[in-house]
Amino acid sequence: MLTGAGVSAESGIPTFRDALSGWWARYRPEELATPEAFARDPDLVWRWYAERRRHAIGADPNAGHRALARLARLGPRVTLVTQNVDGLHQRAGSAAVHELHGNLTRARCSREGRVVETDRWDATTAPPCPTCGARLRPDVVWFGEPLPARALEVALEAAAACDVFLAVGTSNLVEPAASLPWIAAAAGACVGVVNLSPRGQRTGPRIHPVLGSAGTVLPALLEAAWPRT
Ligand code: NAD
Repeated sequence: MLTGAGVSAESGIPTFRDALSGWWARYRPEELATPEAFARDPDLVWRWYAERRRHAIGADPNAGHRALARLARLGPRVTLVTQNVDGLHQRAGSAAVHELHGNLTRARCSREGRVVETDRWDATTAPPCPTCGARLRPDVVWFGEPLPARALEVALEAAAACDVFLAVGTSNLVEPAASLPWIAAAAGACVGVVNLSPRGQRTGPRIHPVLGSAGTVLPALLEAAWPRT
């Protein structure tokens, strides 16, 4: 199972690439989500992530997040891999979430990489690490940075071994996550691609597009497979 920003859209969290509502319509990614941007203007980057963090913490998980949490409890072995950084899967009750792009509700030291507890999210400047004094940064993966090795390993292994792969609410543009559905299809899995729009989605043998919102399609899939009687 691979999720992207579309799963959180119905919680009011903008996706990156939806033209009207996406964060990228207001800011240029290369200005804010790169190590170079942080080196150039850490305070601007800190404030932008702090605003996104406030937004994520103020949002509630939606029916799509809850359906995925319920799916894992119903019995099938589910590996939940997400590109989302908002923590909503965990708040919906998903116990094991493999975060490919980190989590913007956490901060870490920009020098030593250690995750750090901080109550300084409202600071107008990126706060110092309490241990070494280097600036704190959000615990997310920026463009040009490597993904967390363990989460990527789990994702690749699950894609290659699964019977069914669901890609939900992702534009499938950001590698290496974008390759996961095709790895699964090439290994013989049945791949469902749940998205509001067919735009930009690849097709091929064993790939089954399902048009609709995550908050509608995922509960309906569960209901069809495990009707609540
Ligand atoms: P994206 O913005 O590139 O694509 C979102 C996709 O979701 C689009 O294809 C869109 O058609 C679809 N979509 C929109 N609303 C939907 C809905 N209700 N139901 C189903 N599909 C819907 O997002 P992505 O592919 O996840 O891009 C990857 C990058 O975006 C990652 O780096 C990720 O960290 C970051 N991101 C995360 C969040 C978050 O954590 N919520 C928000 C914005 C961006």
